[in-house]
Formats: sequence, structure tokens, C-alpha cells
Amino acid sequence: MLMLPDFRVRQRDFLLEISRAITAQLELSEVLRRVLKASVAMMAGQCGLVALRAEDEHFYVRAFMGIESVHIPEINFQLRDLVSSMGKEPKVDALNERFREMAAAIDHNLRQSIALPLSFAGEPLGLLIVFRSYRTAVTTNDLQILQSFTDQAAIAVHNAQLYERIDRERNQLAAILDHSADGIMILAPDLQILHFNHALATMTQWSVEEALGQYQHEVIQWQRLENDDLQAAIERGWPFNGADTFRNTLYVEGDLRSRNGISISVGITYAAMLTSDNRIANVIANVRDITNFRQAQEMQNIFISGISHELKTPVAIIKGYAATLRREDAIWDPKVIQDNLAVIEEEADRLTALIQDLLTASRIQAQRELKLDLSEVWLDLLADQVVERFRTQTDKHQFVVNFPAGFPVIQGDEVRLRQVFDNLIGNAIKYSPNGGQIRIWGEWDKARVSVYVEDQGVGIAERDQDKIFDRFYRVDSKLSRRTQGTGLGLYLAKAIITAHRGVIGVQSDLGKGSMFYFTLPYQPASP
Ligand code: ADP
Repeated sequence: MLMLPDFRVRQRDFLLEISRAITAQLELSEVLRRVLKASVAMMAGQCGLVALRAEDEHFYVRAFMGIESVHIPEINFQLRDLVSSMGKEPKVDALNERFREMAAAIDHNLRQSIALPLSFAGEPLGLLIVFRSYRTAVTTNDLQILQSFTDQAAIAVHNAQLYERIDRERNQLAAILDHSADGIMILAPDLQILHFNHALATMTQWSVEEALGQYQHEVIQWQRLENDDLQAAIERGWPFNGADTFRNTLYVEGDLRSRNGISISVGITYAAMLTSDNRIANVIANVRDITNFRQAQEMQNIFISGISHELKTPVAIIKGYAATLRREDAIWDPKVIQDNLAVIEEEADRLTALIQDLLTASRIQAQRELKLDLSEVWLDLLADQVVERFRTQTDKHQFVVNFPAGFPVIQGDEVRLRQVFDNLIGNAIKYSPNGGQIRIWGEWDKARVSVYVEDQGVGIAERDQDKIFDRFYRVDSKLSRRTQGTGLGLYLAKAIITAHRGVIGVQSDLGKGSMFYFTLPYQPASP
């Protein structure tokens, strides 16, 4: 049997140990620990360290053995100084001399240091240093072996660093997917769900854990589809243009049924990742909730048809009356002429008011808040004036106005607040077609005044009570279809009250009537 000399056996064992570290370990700190341990033992050293070059180009101790950790900051500092004075490729001899000094600082028993660069493909990755407490010549053989160690170790370090980077990038990617506001899922070629983010879980009401492993069609259940879904597109041969991912996206739009039965409008963009022979490796789906967009579109349509109607009516009336007055075959009584002109004027005023409302609404939309022209406002007097004007327009409704004497004077924009009264009282009439009493009253305390407008009309269902203050929102009912309106009145009233730092709201029972109220802050006059 062939007997290897003892030191050869040792070297072989150490080399084996390092190759094992290279193949088995991907965790950098563990690789470094093993490489260091083998090197220190092989060189019969007392202690040692591995320093790696970081992204800032400086070297930092990443593993150490036999050195107390209090010394590490100082060693890092010395390494920085040393490497920056040596340039990118440190000279081994000069380095060793400096390391010997470093060693003495760590422990005065350390007499020698052997340092070797770890480099991979010509790139310096770091340094390995072994310290010894005795000073003997380092043989060429020793150095060669240590060099082959460090070469192997460099491969292991390189692999582990690569792995660390991939791991970091994978974590970043996972964080992006998980925190994306859009729903994202990754599908296998057979459309099984491999990744499913939180946004998509919220949208579909499938928990991430439950969705993983399901097939896409089990989770994405279409209620209505505007074009082919993914499965149908794949059957037709999608992705059609080979590897060009950008031109290869597939857009599918429609309504999904979420797990709890709610319908949501979504647009899904699918992108295919292909294998080198152009088969699907993965499909990445980006799911965007377009429910709000759809509702806004629908509202826009309703608004456009509503507003054209609102604009057409006064124009038609004006035209009709003007045409009548112009008839050459008739001689009109001055009273008739006066009456007709009054109607024309009234309708022209209505048109102006409508256009004014539209402009105000779009201005609010753009600036977010209304500008106020402040002065002293007597809300009780304002209520009286507005009611007087409406009284002449209806004989089905009785008005009861009740503001206690001494009602506070507030700072406000009188024109705008009149608009709020106009709207609330106008609505109270419009939406109580069978007539009834309309009560308007005020209350106040030390900091606030409140005004109430109550009718005995059709009332508002609870689900609509918040929405009626939205732009263009009108409750869909037979009555509202018959009554003129743009759905802007309450939106503007809310904007006006909000600009006064106040609050507007409604209490209502469907079929029994509504009570609108607004509350404004005021500064009591000092006595
Ligand atoms: P418009 O009256 O032009 O439709 P508004 O913004 O003033 O617009 O009101 C929005 C909707 O709120 C109305 O379409 C109506 O359905 C409902 N509404 C407003 N005031 C009342 C009320 N007093 N009683 C019942 N419904 C009302």
C-alpha cells in the first residue's frame, strides 16, 4: 500500500474539505468559515481572516478565526488604508510586511502573516490572511498549496457571492410583485398558478395560499368577456411572434366574479416568457381593476345624455316662444308679448345658471377647492328670501321657516350660500311631487350654526345617501327620470359648505321624506 507522507495527507484532506465547501455550500459566510479553518490549520497558524471587496471597492473582514471581534473595526480601517495605498492589485510582499504589523497589533505573540489574494478571472475578490506565532520561512511549497487553496476558495466565494446576489435580486423582485398595486400572477405552461400577489388576492378574494397551485380558470372566473381569454388565445397559437415579449402581450378585458360573488371589471395583460425553442416557459399576468374607470365612463355617458337634455329643453322653449312672437300673421296683445318675453328671459337665466354650475364644477375638479368671497351673512334672511322666490312657483307645498331670534351672523360667501339654499329647497320641491310641508329652520351653539331643510317627499334609500353628493350622481328612479336635473346641485352644495369648513349631510327614510342639513363654524361676536 502506498503511504503518503503525513503533510501530503493533510494537504489532500484540506483540499478535499475546500472542494466540498465549494460544491455543497452556497451560503457565503459558511464557505468563508470553512476555507479559513482549513487554511489556518494547514499553515499551522494561530488565527486568520478573510476580507472581501465590497461594492464600495474597500475590503472588509467577512470571516475571522482566533481573533477577538473588538479588533475587527481597526483591521477594517487598516485594510482600507492599505488597499487604497496599494492600488487595485495589491503586491503580496509589501502587503505581508504590513500584515505583520497588523498581526502584532492584534496580539504581540503573532510574528508572521501569510496573505494571499483571492481572485477570480483576474478580478480581486478579497484577501486571505493566516497569522502565525512563530517566524519561519514560508516554503514555496507552502505558498503554492495555499495559493491553490485560495484559487479554489475564490471560486467558492465567487459562487456564493453570485448566489447571494441572485437571492437578493429574487427578494427584490418578490417584494415588487407583492407590493404592486396591480394584481400579478405567474403561470406555468399548463396555466397553473405559481405566484399570486396580495393585490390579486384582495381583488379576487382568493387567499394567496389557496390560489397557488390552482389552474388559472378556477380563480379567474369570467362573467363577461370582451375578447378571447388566455386559453382560447393559446389554442389559436398565441404567442404569435416568437420571442418578442413586448409585441407578444395579450390583453383580455371583462368582468370577473370574485370569490364572494362581487363583479369586478378588469383588464389583464398577459406576457409570455418563452424557452429557447419558442415554447411557453411561463405566462406573467398583470391584472388591473378598472371598475372605477368603467363606472366613471358610464357616469360620463349618463351625464352627457342628461346634460344635453337639460340644455336642449330651455333652448327649445326659447326658440318656440321667440318663433311665436315673430309670426308675421299675428298681432300680439302687449300682455302676451310681455308674458312670452318673461318666459324667454327665465329660460335664458336657467341656461346661464346651468352653464355656471358646469363651469364651477369643472373648476372645483381642477383646483380641488372653491374660492370664497367672504362677508357677513344673515342665514335667516337668506332663507326667507329664497323661500319667497320658491313660494310663487308652487301651490302644492307649504313652507315653514323658523330661525330663532338672534340667530348669529356668520362670515361666509353670500352668493354661494344662497346657491346652497336654492339647491336644497329646490330639491325639496322637486322630489316631493305630491306636495306637503317643507320646513326650514336653524339652530346654533357656541361654535356652530346649523340649518335644516326637511320635506315629505320620496326620500332616499340608504345606499344612495352618500353618493348623491357625488358629481353627476342622480338616484335612478321613475321620478328622477321625469324631473330635470344634472346631478350637480348637491355636489356644488357640498363643495361650498366644505370650503366654509362646514359639513353637509342628509337623513332620510325612503318614501317618507328627507332632511338635509349643513353646519358651519362661526366666531361668536365678543360681548
Ligand atoms: P339633481 O337634482 O340635479 O339631480 P342634485 O345633486 O341636486 O342633482 O341631487 C342629486 C340626487 O339626489 C337627485 O337626482 C335626487 O335623486 C336626490 N335628491 C336630492 N335631494 C332630494 C330630496 N330632497 N329628496 C329625495 N331625493 C333627493
